[in-house]
This record gives sequence, structure tokens and C-alpha cells, in this order.
Amino acid sequence: CGIVGYIGKEQAASILLDGLSKLEYRGYDSAGMAVYNGEDIEVVKSKGRLKVLSELTHDGATMPGTLGIGHTRWATHGEPSDVNAHPHCNKDESIVVVHNGIIENYLKLKRKLEDKGYKFLSDTDTEVIAHLLDYYYTGNPLQAVTKVMHRMEGSYALGIIFKDHPDELYAVRKDSPLIVGHTKSGSIIASDVPAVLKYTRDVFFIENEEIVRMTDQTMEFFTVDEEPLEKKSTRIEWDV
Ligand code: GLU
Repeated sequence: CGIVGYIGKEQAASILLDGLSKLEYRGYDSAGMAVYNGEDIEVVKSKGRLKVLSELTHDGATMPGTLGIGHTRWATHGEPSDVNAHPHCNKDESIVVVHNGIIENYLKLKRKLEDKGYKFLSDTDTEVIAHLLDYYYTGNPLQAVTKVMHRMEGSYALGIIFKDHPDELYAVRKDSPLIVGHTKSGSIIASDVPAVLKYTRDVFFIENEEIVRMTDQTMEFFTVDEEPLEKKSTRIEWDV
């Protein structure tokens, strides 16, 4: 029940594993990561402890790349299993999502997408987000994200990667926590402060229905109507 994301100059996988380990206190039954390797988005996920994910990826070494998202899952829809673990993808794995929260109207959305020919691999509510993003995506990630937000009911903190925008990482939230910050080498997102403290002490607390578009150097905030927002960072003085 935690998400972490990174875009920058360092290897993403080890930062994701480290960040997820700091969120273990939130509880979870599965863990997974997606990393863009310069050509494709590679996904590794598994039921069980974070240790399983670390072992599968040799502490991240088998997943090279500097853009990635990671997740620890606390199953709400669909049993704890490898298939139901996050990240979840659209059909050609060009849009990849991690999600904390519950999409209350997922069944309705799932039926509509199935009617349009979308095939579901998992029993999660989260998978509708990946396919809905695919449905609305016409080359502008921000637009697809806002359209999907208008359709979703429930709670979500999301980290999203679009394969054809590999210099960007997207994050958004409603009723599930999310923070973002700049590190020395890039930008990081997480469910909670302990996951980022090693990398930065200046964080932006994302409010409900705010969207963040990050590159390794920049961070832009938008409303659900795609209007730019000004936000101030908060200095974290405490330690874990
Ligand atoms: N509802 C999603 C699922 O069951 C996300 C759960 C979570 O927050 O970890 O997969």
C-alpha cells in the first residue's frame, strides 16, 4: 500500500526498492516495479515480501533505466497474486500504472471497456485505469490523465509512465496520500515522507485532484482542468 516513482540520472530500480522498504510499515501482500530501459517498459511483480522482488531483480540490477515506478499492494479487489500485483499496463505495455486506493466504479468502467474490446488480465480495480488511459490517449499524456480523472470515482494515488514520453513521470492523487520532491539527481514521488528523506528534505504535498508532470529537472502542477498551479515546497526538519 505504497507507491514510489523516480526520474533522473541515477538507476531507478534501486531507489524504488529503497523507497518501498521505507513504506513497509503501511502493510502489503505483493510488490512490483516498472522501469523504462530505453526501448521498453519492463515490469517485474510478485506476490509476497519486497525481498522477493529484490531477489527477482538482483536488487534492481536486472532492471536498468532511469525512469521507474514501484508499488507495494494491499489487495482490495482481487486476491494477492502475481497477476494482480501492480504495476498494471495497457495492452501493448506502453502505459504503465501503480495505484493506491479503490476505484469505486471500476466494474461499470470495466464493462464499458470490455464492450470496446479491451481484455483484462487481472481482477483488480486498478487495471481499468491503464485501459482507460489507453482509450483516451492520443499523444497528450496530461489530457489523457485529466479525462480519466473525470471518469473515476473513489480514491487514488497514481504513478504513471507513458512509453512515448520517456522523459516524463506523471503523478496524481485523490483521497490517497502523495508527495513529490527534487533530489540531487532527479525527481521522486512517494506515498509518504520516509521514502524520500534520504534524497530530499523539500517536498510538495499534493492536494486532492492535483496532477504533477515531472522531468529529471522540472516539476509542473496542474488542476484537473489542465490549468497550471503554483505550489510551495515544505522543508521537512524531522528524521525517521
Ligand atoms: N485497489 C487496488 C488493488 O486492490 C490497490 C490496492 C492498494 O492500495 O495497494 O490492487
